[in-house]
Amino acid sequence: MSSNSYLVVGDRTCVIDPGMDPSKVLDRGREDNIGIHGLINTHCHYDHVAANPGILETGEITCYCHNIDAQAIEKGDGSLQLAGLFGEEPVRHRVDQHLEDGNTIDLGGVALEVLHTPGHTPGSICLYEPGERVLFTGDTIFVGGVGRTDFKGGSWDELRDSIGRLAEFDEKRGVERICPGHGPEGEGREIRRVLEVYF
Ligand SMILES: [Zn+2]
Repeated sequence: MSSNSYLVVGDRTCVIDPGMDPSKVLDRGREDNIGIHGLINTHCHYDHVAANPGILETGEITCYCHNIDAQAIEKGDGSLQLAGLFGEEPVRHRVDQHLEDGNTIDLGGVALEVLHTPGHTPGSICLYEPGERVLFTGDTIFVGGVGRTDFKGGSWDELRDSIGRLAEFDEKRGVERICPGHGPEGEGREIRRVLEVYF
């Protein structure tokens, strides 16, 4: 489904949204000789979480997701994961850390700050890396677009508020680059542009 996966490398390495095929992430880790210590999901949709079990079984890996979407993973809720849309069974496993807005995931030398941005799903998050001022946006915002809100748990009003908050965050903290869940990376100013075009 062309969902993007990112490896964030500090003293420990985290994969953000491994997508649907675990071998892609694992092969890349092997090529670059880096072990994976953490797995963060920006939200619970199947095209972002399907590879979770295949990654988690390879070692001592801490799994993170916002508390709300973590429950959809732990319960194996197919309607919230949209597993049926992909003709598959939902994933079901334990999520070690249920994230909340304001949490920080410290990878040693690199940290990811959690922003709760509901709208695409109730437990969607964005992750901000202050060193390089990168914002991983999941399916909340893309270059030139926003996430769909017509799936179960989606809300256009919440998405508007979340993207408004991201624009304020950009003004306050500075976002250099956005790395979305689908499509190309873009500049931080994309947030304000998308807010103005869509809302
Ligand atoms: Zn999604």
